Amino acid sequence: MPDCLFCNIIAGKIPSKKVYEDDLVYVFEDIRQAAPTHVLIVPKKHIIDLKHAKPEDAEIIGYCQLVAARIGRERGIEDGYRTVYNVGPRAGQSVFHLHLHLLGGRDLKWPPG
Ligand code: 5GP
Ligand code: ZN
Repeated sequence: MPDCLFCNIIAGKIPSKKVYEDDLVYVFEDIRQAAPTHVLIVPKKHIIDLKHAKPEDAEIIGYCQLVAARIGRERGIEDGYRTVYNVGPRAGQSVFHLHLHLLGGRDLKWPPG
């Protein structure tokens, strides 16, 4: 999608601090670090958000969670982290290319604001 921020980041047209990449996902540091660890796990496939995901997207949605779990392990934050798919503007979604937030490295309040 030519006008999509995350498609352009994945394509290397917009710079990012890459954490990990494979055939399915691109992972990079969120530009506004809301926690000591705040990375975005982004499917290379342009899916708008969870509510637009199709049954064939189930694997990539779960795979993003497993990538997050691995990064959580590598970063030593397994005493508490959170993975979040924001869905829709009222939940704070601002980029309409599906992405999983991984937040950790500090105490996280529940419920979130
Ligand atoms: P959302 O609000 O849609 O759930 O998450 C979008 C995230 O993308 C936000 O946390 C925001 O800080 C991050 N973000 C927005 N623009 C950029 C950018 O150009 N580069 C990076 N690395 N992160 C961005
Ligand atoms: Zn996109």
